[in-house]
Amino acid sequence: MTERPCRKCLIADLPRGEKLREILQERLAQIPEEEKVSPAEYASRLEKCRTCGHLHEGTCALCGCYVELRLARAGKGCPMKGTILQNKTN
Ligand code: SF4
Repeated sequence: MTERPCRKCLIADLPRGEKLREILQERLAQIPEEEKVSPAEYASRLEKCRTCGHLHEGTCALCGCYVELRLARAGKGCPMKGTILQNKTN
């Protein structure tokens, strides 16, 4: 039976995403702290992605980014500027 992709999952939620989660954590650790949003802001951003129809297995269908990486950065944000997530810059 073919598995259907999860439309509401972050990488953190994927049932068999161990390797991707590992890579994600490595990449997140490489972002300088001064470039990251606060943990509360990060969690808030990801919650919005979880309810967004553009999320597809951890990737934003609009920009192609892994949202858990993109939204960790203060200078990045949702490509739907001003509608789904507020961007500081894009
Ligand atoms: S459009 Fe915005 S809220 Fe939706 S998945 Fe992309 S980054 Fe997340």
